[in-house]
Amino acid sequence: MALLDILTAPHPVLSAKARAVTADEFTPALQRLLEDMAETMYAAPGVGLAAPQIGDSRRIVVADPGFEGEDGARKKGVDLVFMVNPQIVERGAERIQWEESCLSVPDLSQNVDRTKRILVRFQDAKGEAQERSYEGFGAVVIQHELDHLDGVTLLKYSSLLKRSRYLQKQKKAPGH
Ligand SMILES: [Zn+2]
Repeated sequence: MALLDILTAPHPVLSAKARAVTADEFTPALQRLLEDMAETMYAAPGVGLAAPQIGDSRRIVVADPGFEGEDGARKKGVDLVFMVNPQIVERGAERIQWEESCLSVPDLSQNVDRTKRILVRFQDAKGEAQERSYEGFGAVVIQHELDHLDGVTLLKYSSLLKRSRYLQKQKKAPGH
């Protein structure tokens, strides 16, 4: 397993729409990528990571909402999920607001309004169809990660002022 580099905004891959994983791509290499993404997520530490964040513009997500559960208890691996080509197929009517942060948008937190209950359809590492429902923090995490697949980061939800402050700071940061 290997730790991968996490890209930070602004980066063109982070604002691009990721493409679907094709049937011939469900290989041991995909399994390895998912495992490396999970290792990178835990090391960050984070509760979700989408492939565009590591420079791979495909519809792939790893998440483990339980790693930073609503009760503050860290249960590593219990809720770990590998999602390929995920899609939200059902949404509840209730909304939830959460102060979100993102590994690709360092030092910025943003309150985002999302759906409280979702049903997600996806393929696992072997290409088998799966379904999973999420509520509360888990639903927030999954919607955040799926945003990344459409080139959307927290900056989209930020005020113009907050966004320009962030971008100014990134420009000045060493290595940028
Ligand atoms: Zn993110």
